[in-house]
Amino acid sequence: MAAHEPLGREYLLHEEIGRGAMAVVRRATSRHGGPPLAAKLLRPELAGDRRVRELFLREDAALRALNHPSIVGLRDLIVEGGTLALVMEFVDGPNLRRYLSMRGGRLTPQEVVAVAAQTAAALAVAHERGVVHLDLKPENLLVRRGSVPPDIRITDFGVAVLLGDAHHSVAGGTPGYTAPEIFQGGPPTPAADVWSLGVLLLELTTGRPTGEPSALPGPLGPVARDCLAADPRRRPPARRVAAYLQQFAGAAHGVAPTALPPISVQPADVEPTTLALGFPPPQLPQPTFPPPAPPQPPRAAFIGPRDTIGSWAGQMPPATGHHQEPEPPRRRWRRAPLITLGAAGLVAAVAFGLNVTARADDRTSQLVTQVSVPPQVSPVEEGGAIQTLPPTSGVALPPLNTPAAERLRVTMAGKVDDDAGTLAISIRDGQAIAYICDGDRLEAWLKGTAKNGLLNLSGKNNSKITGLFDARRAAGEITVEGKPHRFEIGVVRKPSGLYRLSSQVQGARVNGSWIVLPDGRQVGVLLRGEQPGPAPVLDVTGRTTTIDGQPVTGATTIDVDTGEGF
Ligand code: ADP
Ligand code: MG
Repeated sequence: MAAHEPLGREYLLHEEIGRGAMAVVRRATSRHGGPPLAAKLLRPELAGDRRVRELFLREDAALRALNHPSIVGLRDLIVEGGTLALVMEFVDGPNLRRYLSMRGGRLTPQEVVAVAAQTAAALAVAHERGVVHLDLKPENLLVRRGSVPPDIRITDFGVAVLLGDAHHSVAGGTPGYTAPEIFQGGPPTPAADVWSLGVLLLELTTGRPTGEPSALPGPLGPVARDCLAADPRRRPPARRVAAYLQQFAGAAHGVAPTALPPISVQPADVEPTTLALGFPPPQLPQPTFPPPAPPQPPRAAFIGPRDTIGSWAGQMPPATGHHQEPEPPRRRWRRAPLITLGAAGLVAAVAFGLNVTARADDRTSQLVTQVSVPPQVSPVEEGGAIQTLPPTSGVALPPLNTPAAERLRVTMAGKVDDDAGTLAISIRDGQAIAYICDGDRLEAWLKGTAKNGLLNLSGKNNSKITGLFDARRAAGEITVEGKPHRFEIGVVRKPSGLYRLSSQVQGARVNGSWIVLPDGRQVGVLLRGEQPGPAPVLDVTGRTTTIDGQPVTGATTIDVDTGEGF
């Protein structure tokens, strides 16, 4: 591929910087300048595969829901002809697999703590947002070049699951890193990521992803063992792992390695009771998302090796916090100045270290998500697939988890994939109304929610819609009359959208429903009593139609701006 190839209207593609099973990743830049970017391009040979395209959109939706300093920042999604690309923050540095091999296959316990603490904290935020990564492994962790201790970003939410997404299928995972219950076809829960975190602790410390977790040095043993509990319900939530490890990460950040008491304690040195403490037995079944713990003051007691080992269970911040932690500000894990302190200064050093890690800092790339706002898109093409979306125009949209995104007001329309009908979905402030019909006899109205990038609607006779959406399009599955149909539809603007009419004609009840498409075409069904048939043409301006030669007025619309019909 030629260098400086354009991507959408805004971006230029440069050299390849990585590749995985699904995608090729290339360095990219914006024509408007700004921070360096990475474009993850769906492999061309997979572009035609609807399932893979859907995974790609899922990654987009997952990243959109997340905002954390240790999760790679998403900037844009480009859908252009056969090209599907995620534009994200460029992380200058190797992935953790490569970093590991550069380091001879293992890291020091302090480095392991730093990497695992960041990873656990990022996972905790993802889990609290309903996203499970499901493919956590060194290849999907990026290490910023030159950072000490390693400053990491989680990437590749390509097989992530959004809890609440009815599909709930697990598409991948990596042997060795994937939790046993996932292999056995169990449901993906946040505990699956915690298992992978346990494998990561093992591999980073010993060089191998297998082995006896309790044998890991210092604070790593008990936490690895608990993460690797066979029963997912017995694994600690990521929030707890993060809170526990961060105390040591703080110490490691704030204190010169020489001043830090060695945390490698042989299990033989430790009384069995302290080692066996582990994580407090959870009340089964454990809630999938325990509320995040309230912020805890630094604890000096976590410094010493013996305290360390014994304190995993007893001194964890309570998992019963009842307030929802606000979205953390974009912070940088930064290297605190190296200070050499005697034992007496360690308490202060820990406090200092923790303060430093918690201080808000600029992220070099304060990324905003950009969406295209096409003037009048006509995404309805053969098969209903969006063949081309206009390139981005650079209009900023906040990520979908913000209050502004909850006020998204938009209508999407197009054919479903197998041509069984035309579908329109109107979204207003988290509420969604949809209608599908074939212009003859099949029709269904559905109602529900459109929140956090997820569609969830239902209607009569078990009709339902589940899927994903953003400001530009919606993709998913609609079940109507017992049959599922895939769809991928794009934004339409007034007067396109949904209309309906209820009236009496010659003593009989009539109910008409229409979808008006951007090219002016209409698809509608008219019920005479219970009897469906093709709807007559609707005059959208006058909101009138003619039934049996008789003019009928008073059609209403589903208006996302005014709320009419919601
Ligand atoms: P796949 O889904 O195909 O596995 P990944 O998202 O894991 O693709 O990316 C593949 C590789 O590309 C990563 O292991 C990493 O080396 C590199 N990479 C991915 N994202 C970035 C990024 N934002 N910045 C720099 N390199 C990246
Ligand atoms: Mg990958």
